[in-house]
Amino acid sequence: MDESIYSSVSILKGVAGKRLEALNQLGIYTVLDLLSYYPFRYEDLQVKDLSDITDQEKVTLKGVVIADPVINSFGYRKTRLIFRIAIEQDVIMVTFFNQPYLKGQVKAGEEITIYGRWDSKRSSLAGMKIIGSKTAEQKEFEAVYSVSKSIQQKTLFNLVTQAYELFADQIPEIIPVSLKEKYRLISHKEAVYAMHFPTDEEQSKQARRQIIFEELFTFQMKLQVLRRQEKSVKQGIEIAYHVAHLRTFIASLPFELTAAQKRVVNEICADLKSPYHMQRLLQGDVGSGKTIVAAIALFATVDAGFQGALMVPTEILAEQHMESLDQLFDPLQVKVALLTGSTKPKLRKEILEQLANGSLDVVIGTHALIQEDVQFKQLGLVITDEQHRFGVEQRKILRNKGNNPDVLFMTATPIPRTLAITVFGEMDVSIIDELPAGRIPIETTWIRPKMFESTLEFIESELVKGAQAYVICPLIEESESLDVKNAVDIYEKLATYYEGRYQVGLLHGKMKAAEKDTIMQQFKENQVQVLVSTTVIEVGVNVPNATTMVIYDADRFGLSQLHQLRGRVGRGSKKSYCILVANPKTEIGQERMKIMTETTDGFLLSEKDLELRGSGDLFGRKQSGVPDFKVADIVTDFGALEAARNEAQQLIKQPAFFTDATYHALRMAVGIEDTEKLSFD
Ligand code: ADP
Ligand code: MG
Repeated sequence: MDESIYSSVSILKGVAGKRLEALNQLGIYTVLDLLSYYPFRYEDLQVKDLSDITDQEKVTLKGVVIADPVINSFGYRKTRLIFRIAIEQDVIMVTFFNQPYLKGQVKAGEEITIYGRWDSKRSSLAGMKIIGSKTAEQKEFEAVYSVSKSIQQKTLFNLVTQAYELFADQIPEIIPVSLKEKYRLISHKEAVYAMHFPTDEEQSKQARRQIIFEELFTFQMKLQVLRRQEKSVKQGIEIAYHVAHLRTFIASLPFELTAAQKRVVNEICADLKSPYHMQRLLQGDVGSGKTIVAAIALFATVDAGFQGALMVPTEILAEQHMESLDQLFDPLQVKVALLTGSTKPKLRKEILEQLANGSLDVVIGTHALIQEDVQFKQLGLVITDEQHRFGVEQRKILRNKGNNPDVLFMTATPIPRTLAITVFGEMDVSIIDELPAGRIPIETTWIRPKMFESTLEFIESELVKGAQAYVICPLIEESESLDVKNAVDIYEKLATYYEGRYQVGLLHGKMKAAEKDTIMQQFKENQVQVLVSTTVIEVGVNVPNATTMVIYDADRFGLSQLHQLRGRVGRGSKKSYCILVANPKTEIGQERMKIMTETTDGFLLSEKDLELRGSGDLFGRKQSGVPDFKVADIVTDFGALEAARNEAQQLIKQPAFFTDATYHALRMAVGIEDTEKLSFD
């Protein structure tokens, strides 16, 4: 029989039908998948002494049940099982929530071993599981897997054990020997064993460290190989614009570019002109003037006879870009169109035709741009603005709509270099590190919700001067579960307060696109002075006359998001204010408020954001295209990621990697056949 570690898990005893399905749902198809399905944590089941444990520690305690447990009901269908146990001279309380059926396992006078979280103030243990009600032999350190309803911990553990017994010898060794020595790594087989069956914490930690490196290294090797393939197979296009035309265009702008804008324009234009396939990340803090840089790049593209596409995350932003680009391009006979989810079918059809026959030069839009029926005649440049949520797959689709067009990603969320590499692969980075002259730093204050009246007075003192204000709330309508200010409620209060003096508008994500447009337009034209909104205006919106930004329940937002919201003001020459209204209940919330009042530096804020929240939240891991590592975390394992990248860059340069038998398993893991030939530079 040719059963191997690469065979389906169904070759294991007890795996068929429903169970096979359940495993597949966890992403486990082959025996190797199963062996690579690592525990997400471990439980220390070694029985501890009361004197050895600290508050909130997860521990295993053993004692004698003093009296049969009682069950209390509280809230809606909630129960609490309570009993006391004696541990030598001490008596502690044990509670189990919503597991009344455990009652039968707890008998007065019997010994019991319980795993749970220790609360030292109350001298009580919040029980998580009963490990044994008799004095049976116990394991002291146990793996915990993330499982589904249809498969149990125990079942999974037994299957892993079975798989290891049968196939341990086939576990592939991916890491080259030289690296193993350098980083003092054990064999992959030993590491896999220690991940599933560690005897203590130390062993599991060591195994984790190794698996993390292996994962990151394999990923980096994949990136390196991909990059090499792209370089050798695909060529970009040459966008041969006329320098003189570009100069005239830039001179016609209503302002002089900042030195930083000039520099990045040069970097981008050099890429456009060369046959090199541009993949560039343009970072620039909120308000640093990225839009105009995009406009210049698009103009150059059109001047050279190609089409350009600008993709953004929201319709509001698409509308806004449409308006400003149309203003710039119309006198120059550059044709721009807007394509979003709410474009009427008839107009949509027209736009698609014009894109296909080349009579349309630039298209601006949301995700509607990457639908299948959108075809270009000569796509030369794709720009995405504020699109962290833009996955690798979507980028590929858009790229394939042209003959490998140049790509520019614009973002106000500074992405640390290493993260950029994991998210986007190898890319060039341009940075606008300067704000247009004459900007006055935004003054940020943090106040408590009870100061509502004085906030309204403050807003009014700005309105009197002819300026405008935003008021942001986390939710649209009142919700039962969350006690947060909601946009509708706040809107009504403000409308009453300012009645007869100022116009108040309401904007939220549930409104129809046309309604949103109307309100946005009224705000831009200063027919509406105060805009109450949810976070739909978070990115990109540009109304320089607005000078006050009030954010309710500000502690609910992440730092990057707060920074984005704050960036809606301070976009003109008037002094601007940001008022954070919050009563944070968590330490993180308080920390955020403090940091916001201390700095307006987006780079610093995003670093802090990373520290406070982790990478997953920053990008929205699912949509972001950040690879889903099994164990590694690109933020906490930053150091390992860098090491892995350096090693991968070294190894790819060695011809032996492509031919030598030593690297066979690694080549398999990276996905290149032994026979595959790759060019060298
Ligand atoms: P962001 O980088 O946040 O996307 P925008 O491109 O929206 O910023 O620009 C913010 C504001 O600054 C806009 O009103 C824009 O017209 C203005 N602006 C951009 N560049 C300059 C400049 N060099 N001098 C003066 N104002 C500028
Ligand atoms: Mg912008």
